[in-house]
Amino acid sequence: MSDPTRPPGPRIIAIANQKGGVGKTTTAINLSAALAEAGMNVLLVDLDPQGNASTGLGIDPAQRSKTTYDLLVEDAPLQEVIRKTRVDGLWICPATTDMSSADIELFSNAKRSFLLHDALRQPAMDAYHFDYVLIDCPPSLSLLTVNAMVAAHSVLVPLQAEFYALEGLSQLMLTVREVRHSANKDLRIEGVLLTMYDSRNNLSLQVEQDARDNLGPVVFQTRIPRNVRLSEAPSFAVPVLEYDPLSKGSLAYRALAQELLARHNSNR
Ligand code: ADP
Ligand code: MG
Repeated sequence: MSDPTRPPGPRIIAIANQKGGVGKTTTAINLSAALAEAGMNVLLVDLDPQGNASTGLGIDPAQRSKTTYDLLVEDAPLQEVIRKTRVDGLWICPATTDMSSADIELFSNAKRSFLLHDALRQPAMDAYHFDYVLIDCPPSLSLLTVNAMVAAHSVLVPLQAEFYALEGLSQLMLTVREVRHSANKDLRIEGVLLTMYDSRNNLSLQVEQDARDNLGPVVFQTRIPRNVRLSEAPSFAVPVLEYDPLSKGSLAYRALAQELLARHNSNR
């Protein structure tokens, strides 16, 4: 922690892929929880108007009087937006459908791409001592996702092991490149994460082979298996680590957290 080369403040990771249903929210919830279990202080920013990460962590809509939208558009104070979750060390900025109008409302704002960047760097953040901020992006390359990429140090890309998986990546990488040129030159790819992986399925093996051949070490060693416990946990409003701590899904997200922490420790 005392390394002078480490950037001050939390490490900010955007979890992005413009495709829906690839495991962004599942990764946001369970990687956050696994990092918290490893002793980190973690903030999950729900940037998807669907609010699935907020629901999956048990913040019911009635409790979401102030949301990420208020943080971005209304300059709401952090203390009014950030909530503690049931998981020790895990906090959330919740979202509701009011976020869906953000793209239009932000359009006339000159600083429109920097709103999340600035919100996460306000002095009031220091009091929380977050080690990590994970941002759950919507399934689009909209202004909200661009805000996440401008705010973040890196992008984590969940990749579902299916036929056209790699084609979608080039569009995402183009956006990353544009953000690097315009607003955030140091934005890195944190890693590509194979999700819903089934080692008995040839297609999974093929997608993994292609990804490792084409992308190299940026693909995480850890793969997230298809595991029904992961899809059940949100309806109990807890991360899988709490719902079924020894399930394959739990073990995989713990392994991912360790892989991430090891990378970051060796880069310090
Ligand atoms: P996204 O946020 O990218 O739209 P989600 O994380 O919401 O994707 O996942 C889409 C659906 O797939 C959800 O119903 C989720 O519970 C399920 N799911 C995600 N990852 C897994 C997995 N590894 N195994 C089984 N089901 C999964
Ligand atoms: Mg989602």
